[in-house]
Amino acid sequence: MNFGKISEISVNNTSSWENIYLTFDVDWASDEVMKYTIDILEKYNAKATFFITHETRILDRLRANNNFELGIHPNFNSLLNGSTEKGTDYNHVIENILKIVPEAVSVRSHSMTQNSNILDAFKKFGLTHDCNHFISNTSEIKLKPWLLWNGLIRCPYFWEDDIYAMEKNKQDIDYTFLQQGLKIFDFHPIHVFLNMSKISQYESTRIFHNDYGNLKKYRNKEYGTENILKFILDRSINFN
Ligand SMILES: [Zn+2]
Repeated sequence: MNFGKISEISVNNTSSWENIYLTFDVDWASDEVMKYTIDILEKYNAKATFFITHETRILDRLRANNNFELGIHPNFNSLLNGSTEKGTDYNHVIENILKIVPEAVSVRSHSMTQNSNILDAFKKFGLTHDCNHFISNTSEIKLKPWLLWNGLIRCPYFWEDDIYAMEKNKQDIDYTFLQQGLKIFDFHPIHVFLNMSKISQYESTRIFHNDYGNLKKYRNKEYGTENILKFILDRSINFN
């Protein structure tokens, strides 16, 4: 199995459905936290898609590696909470993040926020691939991409690190590889860095998320998100 970037997913080219797609929701992670994930991916020479939340110097490093694609991770939560902090309406939120990542063609919203108006706006702003639909691998549904009414390519994803940590009836991660269909994984650099296995670990370290010196003391030593990412990287390479 090879790794792919989200923009390489095609509705007509079924071989594009067979790749492993690693995606990362940046969620305002610090550059040090980002660097930790990038170092792992570059060691494996793996392709990946980063959904970007903010302007920062490490975007230059991501752009310098052709294995990486930069998409956008617009945050509509402030609008839903009645705040105009991130923009005054959904068009404004999308415009603001596209100023930081003008090359983006792929998108996943923070908290997966979507509706038909937002999806039409993604299309209007030139995006081609939408990753907002989560259909858990535990559903055992064989996934594939499809075209939305407006021509956007919908790329459903089947696994997310923080959801996996909360799932009651967790499947062994190896199980995801046995499933048929499109395999898009959603990681967060902060969870990779913390090697998170319990959401409580993440929540309790929030005050240190931008304090690298302290944050690194709180890395989980048991099996966690970083181990899962490395398992996927090792397993995919061994399949080739
Ligand atoms: Zn997010």
